[in-house]
Amino acid sequence: MSTDPNCVFCKIAAGQIPANKVHEDDELLVFHDIHPWAPVHVLVIPKRHVASLAEVGPEHEALLGRMMALAPRLMRDLGVTNGFRVVVNTGPDGGQEVYHLHMHVMGGPRPWARG
Ligand code: 5GP
Ligand code: ZN
Repeated sequence: MSTDPNCVFCKIAAGQIPANKVHEDDELLVFHDIHPWAPVHVLVIPKRHVASLAEVGPEHEALLGRMMALAPRLMRDLGVTNGFRVVVNTGPDGGQEVYHLHMHVMGGPRPWARG
């Protein structure tokens, strides 16, 4: 599996940095964002290192499908009943801070801290 020793999300996936996990399977990990924008704010990541959505190609289609398809189930399980937002910040102008592909999934009653 592809990992980057300097990548914070690879370290979370490897259990080297703690995270508040909500889902784990063979390919994906989901944990609560350390600085939530919304009452419920989780990050869906592939366990293998993919730097950004800009790096994605046809070989990642199934992975991306799994990430997206997981969102409604996660929100249901976390008690979100009134809609949610899915965001993938990509590259410098996209506001990406962590260069390991991740999908923000945010929900819960407004107002939110951001977003
Ligand atoms: P980006 O701007 O790259 O889309 O968002 C990165 C997100 O990762 C931010 O919302 C930030 O709060 C979150 N984050 C960064 N480092 C950590 C960490 O060590 N643990 C957790 N749980 N979230 C993190
Ligand atoms: Zn990584």
